[in-house]
Amino acid sequence: MATATSALQRMYIDGQWTEAEGGRTKAVINPATEETLAEVAYGGRPEARRAIEAAHKAMPAWMKLTPYDRAKVLKKTADLMRDRVDTIAKTLTLEQGKPVAEAKAEILHAADTFEWFAEEGKRAYGQIIPHSVPGKRHVTLKHPVGVVGAITPWNFPVTLPARKIAPALAAGCTIVIKPAEQTPLCMIQLLECLLEAGAPPGVVNLVIGEGPAIGEEFLQNPLCRKLSFTGSTAVGKQLMRGAADQVKRLSLELGGHAPFIVFPDADPEVGAKIAVTGKFRNNGQVCIAPSRFYVHKDVEKKFTEAAVEFSRALKLGNGVEPGVEVGPMIEERARDKTVGLIDDARKTGATVLTGGKKSDRFAKGFFFEPTVLNNLSPDSKILTEEPFAPVMPLLNFSNLDDVIRAANNTRYGLSAYVFTNDLSIAWKMAEGLEAGIIGINDPVPAAPQCPFGGMKESGLGRELAHEGLEAYLETKYVSWKLKD
Ligand code: NAP
Repeated sequence: MATATSALQRMYIDGQWTEAEGGRTKAVINPATEETLAEVAYGGRPEARRAIEAAHKAMPAWMKLTPYDRAKVLKKTADLMRDRVDTIAKTLTLEQGKPVAEAKAEILHAADTFEWFAEEGKRAYGQIIPHSVPGKRHVTLKHPVGVVGAITPWNFPVTLPARKIAPALAAGCTIVIKPAEQTPLCMIQLLECLLEAGAPPGVVNLVIGEGPAIGEEFLQNPLCRKLSFTGSTAVGKQLMRGAADQVKRLSLELGGHAPFIVFPDADPEVGAKIAVTGKFRNNGQVCIAPSRFYVHKDVEKKFTEAAVEFSRALKLGNGVEPGVEVGPMIEERARDKTVGLIDDARKTGATVLTGGKKSDRFAKGFFFEPTVLNNLSPDSKILTEEPFAPVMPLLNFSNLDDVIRAANNTRYGLSAYVFTNDLSIAWKMAEGLEAGIIGINDPVPAAPQCPFGGMKESGLGRELAHEGLEAYLETKYVSWKLKD
């Protein structure tokens, strides 16, 4: 059997490493050097169809295993990922750009996700429901939803597939995963862990290729019973429309535009440190990245000075080099979009306090200087469109109700952050903010056992936690009439 370590990196369908029909390939580019890292097989609808058929064929045997046997595969996958964290992290950094330390943290989080769902699969409990008519009995059973089509983006190329593969397999579903075209290589290494851990042929299939074509097959093939998508709100909406034809089950993890609100009772320098950590992680290319910073007027000056100082001190460079804290952006297009957002902000009166331009220290690579802005006009694009960029726009406020209104004045509702030591303020903010995830003094709130997902146009459903398992289960209700 050819393996994924052959020169051409292949897809994996029905237990075989395979090339695309017609032999089509695509280059994977290192965003720090612009060099080609590898060629990958690049397919589309025919490969997606074959993969769905393989997953359908593999489903009866996989769902008949006990959750305890399925857990062994998931737990072993977690162990293998931990053993190989250095190798997978290097691949992740080379194709995605984030510093190796961040890449390692991502892989360990993904390994924890596999281990957690190995256990949670054992808790897919039904219920016995009290009857109201004598002689009747009512129960619910949990049933795997069926073959899952999963689509993921490039910003967390190991964690995000793990959030779909682990619960789907734990629930007894089989899956076809389509990673982003920029970052298929670490997904191949994750798949190798699953296969060595004992995932049978057809249970996990990997299709690399055109997003829209593969998405169409997931939507239109009746053997595919659920689509789980993480990506932009625009594509999520298209898929939601397409899912209507077959009433396809849908989980959507979409964009965000998180407020970060700084109250005056706590040390603004500590707040600025937390804010900078949350903002520039993965270059701001994080769905839950804070992207509108509301700072109370009483601490605005101190917070601003500290935020500028911390942002300037961040070490920008190739993520494989020691000590680098911020790598390149994913591609030229993303960097150009950032330049456009800053130009627009400047035109509408914003001041650039630091950064604001492509870094000129590197001959190659998509580097952008960590940027802090203030004096923003409320209708500047950076405050209304998801920025997905290393830019920190500073705003101010003086009253709790006003800042809740301003923070909620967006079509997004994924995450929100509050910096305070005042318990009453923290509680009122947690109740008042329209967001699925709220970090109180915590810029990195995701954990495998806690629900992750958004309100409003940030998505539908939750990943991780017990909700993340339920997303791959149907509830069957069974009613009995007993003999007298
Ligand atoms: P994107 O353009 O929506 O792409 C995401 C994935 O969808 C890629 O695999 C892409 O394939 C595929 N795709 C593109 N068009 C498609 C279509 N018409 N039908 C089916 N699939 C399609 O998103 P992105 O800009 O790469 O990723 C960043 C976005 O993801 C941001 O909005 C971010 O907030 C969001 N995100 C959300 C979460 C969350 O948990 N809520 C987590 C991470 C990221 P190709 O690679 O072939 O283009």
